Amino acid sequence: MPRYEYRCKACGDTFELSRPMAESSAPAACPEGHTDTVKLLSTVAMTGGGTAPAPAPRGGGGGGCCGGGCCG
Ligand SMILES: [Zn+2]
Repeated sequence: MPRYEYRCKACGDTFELSRPMAESSAPAACPEGHTDTVKLLSTVAMTGGGTAPAPAPRGGGGGGCCGGGCCG
């Protein structure tokens, strides 16, 4: 089940909820009970993305050592 991040405009808190995609835009109450919340951009990389900000350190050679400064 995808996880969505919400921000409460009442208390300014951010929280995550795991809910079906069909309910991603449904109102979500914050842990404090406020219902004045907005959905933030999900940082979860679901299938069929393309613009997933994946900070993958590997890749580019296959060595894995040289490049990080450990071979200097
Ligand atoms: Zn709140």
